[in-house]
Parts: sequence; C-alpha cells; structure tokens
Amino acid sequence: MTEADGEMVLEPDVAGLRPVRSLADLRAASRALPLRTSDEAKPALSCTPHEALRKGWGYEDFRPLQGEAIASALAGKDALVVLPTGGGKSLCYQIPAVCGAGLVLVVSPLIALMDDQVAGAREAGLIAGALHSNVSEEEKRRTWRQTLSGELVLLYVSPERLVVGELIDRIKDRLALIAVDEAHCVSHWGHDFRPEYRQLKPLMDQAPHAARMALTATATPEVQQDICQQLGLRRTAHFIGHPDRPNLVYRAMPRREGTKQVLEVLARHPGEGGIVYAQTRKEVERLATALKAAKVSCAPYHAGLPAEQRAATQDGFVNERIDVVVATIAFGMGIDRANVRYVIHANTPKSVEHYQQEAGRAGRDGLPAECVLLHSGADIVLHRRLATMDGVLPPQRARALDRQLREIAMFAVAPVCRHRLLTEHFGAPWPPPGAPVSDGNCGACDVCLGESSAQPEAEALVAAKKIISAVWRLEGAFGAGHVTDVLTGERTDKAQRAGHDKLSVFGLLKDDGEAAVRLWIDQLVAQDHLAYHEDGVYTMLTMTDSGRQLCKGVGAVRLGRLVVTNRRKSKPARAAATVAAEAAADLGPLDQRLFERLRLLRRRLAEEHHVPPYLVFTDETLRLMSRQRPASPEALLAIKGVGESRLARYGAAFLEAIARE
Ligand code: ADP
Ligand code: ZN
Repeated sequence: MTEADGEMVLEPDVAGLRPVRSLADLRAASRALPLRTSDEAKPALSCTPHEALRKGWGYEDFRPLQGEAIASALAGKDALVVLPTGGGKSLCYQIPAVCGAGLVLVVSPLIALMDDQVAGAREAGLIAGALHSNVSEEEKRRTWRQTLSGELVLLYVSPERLVVGELIDRIKDRLALIAVDEAHCVSHWGHDFRPEYRQLKPLMDQAPHAARMALTATATPEVQQDICQQLGLRRTAHFIGHPDRPNLVYRAMPRREGTKQVLEVLARHPGEGGIVYAQTRKEVERLATALKAAKVSCAPYHAGLPAEQRAATQDGFVNERIDVVVATIAFGMGIDRANVRYVIHANTPKSVEHYQQEAGRAGRDGLPAECVLLHSGADIVLHRRLATMDGVLPPQRARALDRQLREIAMFAVAPVCRHRLLTEHFGAPWPPPGAPVSDGNCGACDVCLGESSAQPEAEALVAAKKIISAVWRLEGAFGAGHVTDVLTGERTDKAQRAGHDKLSVFGLLKDDGEAAVRLWIDQLVAQDHLAYHEDGVYTMLTMTDSGRQLCKGVGAVRLGRLVVTNRRKSKPARAAATVAAEAAADLGPLDQRLFERLRLLRRRLAEEHHVPPYLVFTDETLRLMSRQRPASPEALLAIKGVGESRLARYGAAFLEAIARE
C-alpha cells in the first residue's frame, strides 16, 4: 500500500476556517474537522500568492526569486528557476496551484520524493496526487478521476509515465503550468542525464498554452543553456538564485583515519540526523559496521541491498528513527528530510556538481549544518578506474571526466574559501551581493575559520620543489606513502633496502611532518604538478610536465595546511539563511528540553497522520516554539511555519505540550 493510498488526510477548508480564540475553541474546531480521504477534499479557493504562502505554509515572506517565479507562472510565461537546495523551489509551482491558476503538472524523476511532495502539498491544504509506477491501481484511478473532474490542482508524474501515455493530450485544456523538476537531467553536461527528459519537449508542445517552468538546484551556465534549448522554453525569464548556502559550514581535510574522523564529526551532533557518503558498497558496509559498534543509530544503504531493506532504511531515516545513513550516492536523491544536520563524504565525490548536490542535502531548513569532505588522491584514482572499467571512454566523455576529477580534487585541497570555490564553479559572483561577508571571509569554512591556511607563496614553492624532486629521484616507481616516508626521513625497511635513506631528498621535509607532506602531495596532484599512475597492482606518483616546469621556476603553485585538529561545533558567522533561523539556532537548556519534548510529540503526530515529521513542523518552527512558548492559538499562528491548516491539525497538541512544561 502506498503512502497516498490508504491515508486518511485531515483536509480543513483552509479559506473557511473561523478565527479560533482559545485552546478549547481550537480543540472543538479540530474535533469538528471531518477526517476524510483525499478524494473527498475540497479544492482550495483562489487567493493571492502571499495569502497562499501565509495560509498554507505559515510563512510571511517569499525567499529570493520565489515571488518573481510565481508571478511569471501566473502570467503564463516560461521560466528557468535555479535556486540552491532549500531555496524553496517546490513553492514556485505549488503556489500557482493554490491560487487557482488551473492544473499544475509536475514532472519529477524521483518517485520517493514525489510521495513526500504530495504529502507536503496536502499538509498545506492542496488537492494533489501522483502517477508513477509505485502507485496502486486504485489510487491511480482516483487521482485520474479527480484530475479529469477538475478537482485536483497539482499532479506529479514521473517522466517514464508521461512519455508512454496520452496524458498531456487528455488534460491540455486545463493545464496552466508544466513544471519540470531536476531539469539538469535533460543535459548531457549535467551530472544525472536521463534519456526520458529528452522526450519531454514534443509532449509539452501538445499543450502550447501551458507555461513551462524548469527547476534545478545546480546548473552551470552551460547546463542552463542546454535546459532552455532541450525543453523548448519560450522567451524565458531566468530566475537564477545565488548558489551559495550561507547556513552550511564546509570543511575539507585529508583522510587519515577515516572512521575516527567520521566519529569526531558525529560526536558534534549527538541524536541529530546525518548522511555519510562512501565510494563503494564495501566501504559503506565497513563504515556502517564500525559506526554501529560505536553505538551510533545507523544503517547502510547501497544498490546491492534488497529493495525492502533500502525502503525500510529510507523510511526510518525520514521518520527520524535512524540518525545516520551510510550510503553510496544511490541514496539521497529521494530524501527530503529537511533537518539533516551534517553530510560527511568519507571519500572524494565524483565532481563538484555531485558535491554541491550531495552536501546540499544538509540544512535544507535553513538552520546551521556541517559538510565535511575527507579526501585522498587514491579516491580520484579509483573514480577513474570505475569510470573506465567497461572499456575506453569516448574522447568527449574522457575529457569531461578528466576535468571533473581535476576540479573536485582542486576543490578538496585548494587553500581557498570553499564557499567561494563552489560559488565560482557555478558561475556566480563572490561574495554574494548584499551578503555580510567582509574581506571575502565567509566565516563558515575550514579556510576562513582558520582551521587550515595557505602557505606563503615562496614557502609553498620551496616545499613543492622538494616534493617533485623526490618523486623524480624515486623515478616514478613509488606511491605517496613511500615518497612521504623518504621526505620526512623515516628509516623504514623499504627505504633502507632501496638505499633511499642515502638520497639527497631524504628528510628534506622532516620538520613539516607526515600529515602536511601527504596533503601537499594531493594538492600537487590536484594542480597537475604530479600525477598518479597505475601498473595494475600499485598506484605510483610521477612528475608531470607542469611539475618539471615548476622546478625550473615556471608556473605557480598553492599549498595549504591544517592548523588545528580540534574543531568545535561552529555556527556560521554569517546570517543563517534567515533572522528567524538565527534566533532558532541556539537554545538554553530549558528551551532545549522543551524542544526535545516537542520533537517527540511531532514524531507521534507524524506517525498518526502518516507523514514524515518535517511535514508536521520543521525544526526551526519547533525551536521558535520552544523559545517563545506561545500560550494561545494566535500566538502559535504568529510563529514562522505555522499556517492555518497546520494550526487546525496540530495546534492543540502543541499548545498543550508547551503549557505542560
Ligand atoms: P528546494 O526544493 O528548493 O530544496 P523546498 O521547496 O523543499 O526547497 O523548500 C525547503 C524548505 O524551505 C521547506 O521546508 C519549505 O517549507 C521552506 N520554505 C520554502 N519557502 C519558504 C519561505 N518563503 N519562507 C520560509 N520557508 C520556506
Ligand atoms: Zn570561507
């Protein structure tokens, strides 16, 4: 049975709610609300976008570009909307549906996400449904009936479902807007190409009067252009948000003792939700076992596990019964949990686009969250091997792969503000216009927080030359570990047997230590002064042409180093996305206790109503409740994230819990 199938949804008539004056009133009102299935629910009435925002979601102001995108859709115009994760893309097409624009069709490639989106839209008072392969026949029939009768205003479909039938043809007269979510999937240049997306344009052409809206979180200028072309957007308005996520703290550091480093991050987030990404299934299993042994509530997730187990893990995570999921990138596309407080990459990801997308799953609620990347040159070698496992790549793919791997390696090791690197990667200016970022210091990455720093230029050049010389002396026949041993003067058996302890480069970087030398080697590889090559068994370091030039004094190099190893849980110095988020982030001990109680209550209500907890209220809203302790329905309604439909559904329970404290 699907979530949407047997679910009983309390569907208040949002527009018709009488003002409630007291708790008793509210209880009576919520008892009076009939419990009905979604197919009996009434359509929302027409209203302005602002009224829709307030009533349905309890928010006062639009996020940047939301209002503009909605206005454009209501005016029947095509638009490209690029907003970072958490930027509020779904409201851009849901609100026109609330306002009574007509039927809104949403094409989304993520079936798991679709069910949550439908649930979310229903929580906001919309009549919504989905058609995809996991929906039961009965539910499909009901959704279809509601669609044809004009009752349903928001219809989600998978691209696979759309391309096989005559769906658009049947609904084209009522269709006001076609929203194509995850629109980067249409582009070969993007990171998740889906062939069905290439078939969308002729289908949409069947409904020429419907406005088109393409949405994505990550698109380089190249991908943006491709989206407009491939989807046939006409006289398109571009709403391109700034890609920076000010509430995320980015840290990148070399992987040394991976498990220990992961546990250190986890220790900063007890009881909070997080995702740990690893490169291979084996590594996922190993890490998950290690974390379980350390008493972490966690589960592994990868494509090799049975479908039921994966579904159970996903469900457990979204419903907050599991804190941590250790996963390959197979996990996460369909995850809409807004209060993910950290994302750890135990290995270097495949590309900067992948990183932005995966790390972006942290902190969608706008509250501070942490993204930690543990990198190693070996990961890059493995990515290359996995990509070429089935044979030689065509030249265009091979070039793209080279570029992507170099970019991510550079991102991981460059001693440059990571917010800035990500921003510039997506073609946006740094610092973001109007952001309180003085002298370019973001206050929210390891570099700007002073946890790692750039070596002065002259020193960096000297160190680089020493390392490159050692690699040359060792004739490109040894790996990073041995090169490091030689440079730091370790008299290992291997060094002595080979007579490497007699080389002039032996011990040249003794004072800098093993950790710094290992990091610098990776940094030199990322900057193409050294390269890894494989003989099928070993991965060895060699000098490149540009390394040779550098030793002759031609070219430039940047090296960075770690300066502290103990990181506290730091809050981004810059405004977390909103003032309210800032106010909600820190709680005193008493407020914290109330927050924990409200969280439990939220979980119980979520189970009763068959929706994920974040759809009841977000963490931010619970934190504001814990701090402000509203004592009346009006006071509760004034809290960000409490709209009239949620007040009616959950208000009484929360007011009682707060009064009891
Ligand atoms: P995206 O799809 O861009 O990642 P979502 O549409 O899932 O973002 O929205 C992320 C979160 O932000 C959701 O919890 C949503 O309710 C919230 N949100 C959206 N718009 C606003 C707004 N104008 N004010 C406050 N919160 C908002
Ligand atoms: Zn920074």
